[in-house]
Amino acid sequence: MTQVPIFLQPTFHERIWGGDALQHYFGYTLPSGRTGECWAISAHPKGESIVREGSYAGLTLGQLWSQHPYLFGHGEAERFPLLIKLIDAQDDLSVQVHPDDAYAARYEGGQAGKTEAWYVLACREGAEIVYGHACQSLDEFKELVAAGKWKQLLRRVPVKPGDCFEVPSGLVHALGTGMLVYEVQQNSDLTYRLYDYDRLDANGQRRELHLEQALANISLLPPPARQLPRKTQVPGARIETLVENRYFGLQKWTLQAVAHLTPTASYLLVSVIAGQGQIQTSAGSFSFQRGDHLIIPRDAAQQFSVQGNSEWLVAYPPLAAQLS
Ligand code: ZN
Repeated sequence: MTQVPIFLQPTFHERIWGGDALQHYFGYTLPSGRTGECWAISAHPKGESIVREGSYAGLTLGQLWSQHPYLFGHGEAERFPLLIKLIDAQDDLSVQVHPDDAYAARYEGGQAGKTEAWYVLACREGAEIVYGHACQSLDEFKELVAAGKWKQLLRRVPVKPGDCFEVPSGLVHALGTGMLVYEVQQNSDLTYRLYDYDRLDANGQRRELHLEQALANISLLPPPARQLPRKTQVPGARIETLVENRYFGLQKWTLQAVAHLTPTASYLLVSVIAGQGQIQTSAGSFSFQRGDHLIIPRDAAQQFSVQGNSEWLVAYPPLAAQLS
């Protein structure tokens, strides 16, 4: 029973900067043409995924985590650690910063901090993100903020499909206009908005900024250096490790024909970004297609095979060995 992949039903969230790319790209039925986020694998109370079928059908991911811990091989961890989103940015998102665990625990009622990573699925020509800033000191940063010299302050980086960016807590960042992005992050919704391009909403109001909290969390370290993915070839699959940090790992799997896989993570969070096929475990054969999000639980994650040409983004909790 525990060798069965667990398919999840995502939730969709409207945003003023959203669009309908999630429908065009993945075939989802969206609540409106301003859908900004798909919370694909989520145990966060603001949008929990529900198990789509099988013996756990109808349970939320949070319930699955607390009632069936053996699926994940976890001991005491109170909350599901990760959150997977798809984001359709049809406009610039606000420039923001996330707290680390220590700040969040102290000032945000014991919540988790937020480190995230982005994988660009598609983007328009010339698309850019905000990724870090140009200041050497916090005083310099505050001066430029006070003077409204955002162009001088913010570091903009061009993006193309297939790029991956790690966004540690404390890094000033924003997605820019015209990109569809996969995001893996700590299970947290703590965002401090630093700048919203002085935009007004339909009621002529500016969105709230959180300048004080943002300034308390800004890192003066440069953004993580871009690294080429580490590539591993196994029969039938090319595995590229895009990010590994103390909160999560992220790999891209390109699967051809039949691949036999023996990952080392305790469970896998899979988002199918292209193609279709079947997953075979000792419990049977399970069809998947582009746009599916599923968890491969611990007992199946040790060994399974995949049939069919497809591309997966696979997130996983950090390996025990990497924590020490
Ligand atoms: Zn963010």
